[in-house]
Amino acid sequence: MRSEIIAVGSEMLTPHRQDTNSLYLTQKLNEIGVSVAFKSIVGDRRRDLLNAIRIALGRVDIVILMGGLGPTEDDLTREAAAEALELSLRRDAQQVAALHARAASWRISMPPNNLKQADVLEGATLLPNPNGSAPGQWLDTVFNGYRKLVLLLPGPPHECRPLFDSECLPRLEEVVPPRAIATRTLKAAMIAESQADKILAPIYTAYADVETTILAHAGDLQLTLICTKPAIEEAQARVDELAGRIEEALEDWLYSSQGDSLEQIVLYYLGLRQATLAVAESCTGGMIAQRITSVPGSSRSFLGGAIVYSDALKSAFAGVPADLLAQHGAVSAEVAKALAHGIRLRTGATIGLGVTGIAGPVGGTEAKPVGLVHIAVSDAQKTESMERTFRGDRRRIREWASQQALDMVRHRLM
Ligand code: ATP
Ligand code: MG
Repeated sequence: MRSEIIAVGSEMLTPHRQDTNSLYLTQKLNEIGVSVAFKSIVGDRRRDLLNAIRIALGRVDIVILMGGLGPTEDDLTREAAAEALELSLRRDAQQVAALHARAASWRISMPPNNLKQADVLEGATLLPNPNGSAPGQWLDTVFNGYRKLVLLLPGPPHECRPLFDSECLPRLEEVVPPRAIATRTLKAAMIAESQADKILAPIYTAYADVETTILAHAGDLQLTLICTKPAIEEAQARVDELAGRIEEALEDWLYSSQGDSLEQIVLYYLGLRQATLAVAESCTGGMIAQRITSVPGSSRSFLGGAIVYSDALKSAFAGVPADLLAQHGAVSAEVAKALAHGIRLRTGATIGLGVTGIAGPVGGTEAKPVGLVHIAVSDAQKTESMERTFRGDRRRIREWASQQALDMVRHRLM
């Protein structure tokens, strides 16, 4: 069965608020075999809401509305749903009493507007909401000859989510034919999306029943595989089989077939080799250390390092010889190697990482353009560097550099 989630609230059409409830609901729906075919966000405007509900009723079996169940003028979900479904609203006496009791317990008199919250769609079941005053509603109806489930949920996350879990999921499980969705996330580093697509497109053709999506960001590629079948074992088997073929095809570019981040994988390998890492970062300004330390347990393998932005600190903290800096300039293979080597010796880490580059937008020259980055990895056997020129703005160049650096450490450990 296919569903649509409609988040109601003008605040979610501003730059300041996101609809996060739908992420939660999507996961729960997928777990019981309901796919989310559409998501909409609608402001608190009756006409827009009415339109959105009508469209949803025309294209999915399950319409989930959240938000706009409050007592104020701009809470219009009940009214719009009733109009779209051509149903009347009935005021529920029990709910009216509950609202009065709630107001009395707070020693306030209830504003007449609040009674809106006792309005129920004809034929709907009220879903108790222990965390707020607006109950949810469950409607199993026939509309234009088709069976439709319409759910009304409160918007605040602490009300919406528990209510969905306790009242909606069990009801949905009874209605939804048993179908299971298996998903799998694979990740690859430093491969272009177009190149990955060229490699993978011929493989995909044999798996028309597995939906694939690709997400690329600054040297990080994420492939998500989704398969829906009557039984989870069957769906999982298809997804796993395709994942295996992708793993083979992407070779060393692939760093995780379970959705882990690159920093998690680097730490995994460090742990496996009983190795430690220290960093000397110039243009990335601590971004690499930040990525690594965001992983719980990173202290087992990550010693720390230095942010060596100035030439003086490159020498003082990472032991880069002053004449090397004078001879080759701070952004050079020699200095990257000296950073990696120096920080390794000074910290006693197994592996040292050095990064130096020009993040821009100013500071580039013809010989050393904006985006030029030298990255070096040093261990007891060897110190090697790589030169890359990344395109994009300052933020992207730094993200690419941190990604390339972590990937070099991964390769050294593999
Ligand atoms: P209710 O159905 O309980 O009346 P409402 O729309 O009236 O909901 P608001 O007062 O508009 O409630 O919103 C309460 C809070 O919940 C706000 O901070 C709002 O941003 C948040 N919220 C509403 N919908 C969502 C959503 N889909 N995802 C995340 N937060 C949401
Ligand atoms: Mg609202």
